[in-house]
Amino acid sequence: MLSIENMSVNYGAIQAVRDLSVVVYEGEVVTLIGANGAGKTTTLRAVSRLLKPVAGRITFMGRDITRLPADEAVKLGIAQSPEGRQVLARQSVQDNLELGGYTRSNAEVKADIDRMYGRFPRLGERRSQMAGTLSGGEQQMLAIGRALMSRPKLLLLDEPSLGLAPIIVREIFDIIRELNAQGVTILLVEQNARLAMQSSHRTYVLDAGQLTLQGNSAELVSDERVLQAYLGG
Ligand code: ATP
Repeated sequence: MLSIENMSVNYGAIQAVRDLSVVVYEGEVVTLIGANGAGKTTTLRAVSRLLKPVAGRITFMGRDITRLPADEAVKLGIAQSPEGRQVLARQSVQDNLELGGYTRSNAEVKADIDRMYGRFPRLGERRSQMAGTLSGGEQQMLAIGRALMSRPKLLLLDEPSLGLAPIIVREIFDIIRELNAQGVTILLVEQNARLAMQSSHRTYVLDAGQLTLQGNSAELVSDERVLQAYLGG
């Protein structure tokens, strides 16, 4: 579904990602792990076309999207739930969801918002509340719901568990598994490496912008190098 080939992304003189190749097959959950600053967020933002690679190629469903504008990427079926959730705090839950459907017709958006409230009943109960008044977990659900409003084929999730209590983190990961079971392909960036690997098919390990390891999550989770560096030995 997604293929990143030999991609490099810079911020001015800083090389954030170097010669990175990643593939995501339809139906998979794929995890990117790595220390702070490894280039994980940069990689997601290049795929959602918010950042421009300086080298390499990104293809999605057979189409070269390396230079596609971000809104065209959404129309093709790529949606991102950003790090830190970035819900519009002073807009209602409903307005935030509507925003996620901006590429679609009003009737489609209305029907999907009802479905979203079925999936996330707490968002339904709080539909008129300002998003900034929601708990962290509810804001994360809203950020995921907002991304789902474009009916993505590929969902990019950046640190969905960041700052959440363990019980809420488990809820978020249950949602990730459910979405995948319903056919959404997912590329996940997570600090919670163990849980992410337990919830994904394959994992790529980045270090200082480069790929250091890749493989089946079930195997990498017990790999000595991963245990030492990312799972606390
Ligand atoms: P984190 O877990 O901290 O989000 P990450 O693996 O997602 O880390 P990136 O955010 O992709 O890493 O950052 C990769 C590199 O690019 C780092 O060296 C970072 O300092 C640098 N960087 C990120 N954003 C910018 C920016 N807007 N301007 C300049 N440098 C940046």
